[in-house]
Amino acid sequence: MRKIELNKRQEQILQIVKENGPITGEHIADRLNLTRATLRPDLAILTMAGFLDARPRVGYFYTGKTGTQLLTENLKKICVKDYQSIPVVVNESVSVYDAICTMFLEDVGTLFVVDGTGILVGVLSRKDLLRASIGNQELTTLPVNIIMTRMPNIAMCQKEDPLIEVADRLIEKQIDAMPVVKETSKGYEVIGRITKTNITKAFVALANDD
Ligand code: ADP
Repeated sequence: MRKIELNKRQEQILQIVKENGPITGEHIADRLNLTRATLRPDLAILTMAGFLDARPRVGYFYTGKTGTQLLTENLKKICVKDYQSIPVVVNESVSVYDAICTMFLEDVGTLFVVDGTGILVGVLSRKDLLRASIGNQELTTLPVNIIMTRMPNIAMCQKEDPLIEVADRLIEKQIDAMPVVKETSKGYEVIGRITKTNITKAFVALANDD
């Protein structure tokens, strides 16, 4: 991720390029009384971070982008596949009781329900299971496909989707998680899971410059 806080030398380079760009690496080095080799890592960081752009045989020039603009651009580049977790799936014929046990054992808040061929057919949240449990004595015989949220009402995403768009949909739909799916001729196969925790991790990583 891009470092927004620059060191003193990087700030000096930025100032030189702002005032004199396009300017070659040699000329920047001359102005700072340093060698081109010493400057190379700083120039690489400034270019990768998007503060500077480099054109072959022309030199470096200032892009004019602010730290906030660069942070936003960077945020939009984070994809689902960079942060997705392993999905926990259950078959549609398992009982509500078994689904509750799976949720505890696997330590997740959302289960994805698949049919006999492994295709996504539903979603089970903590509250779905709690609701089914209240006053119900038949949890070992009640199959999850009676109580789950079912297709086609499942919000899902794909591994190349921008994470920020998934975050937006989680908020809009007031849900905690989405299956990451791969489209096949039979339907959608579940290949991952994105939850509010994954989004929080991405948010912290961005701030920590990971
Ligand atoms: P909880 O109900 O434990 O607070 P959620 O907010 O994720 O958890 O779930 C709210 C409701 O939305 C539940 O009925 C659940 O089945 C459903 N749901 C959860 N995830 C999805 C999803 N990706 N697509 C559609 N519905 C979902």
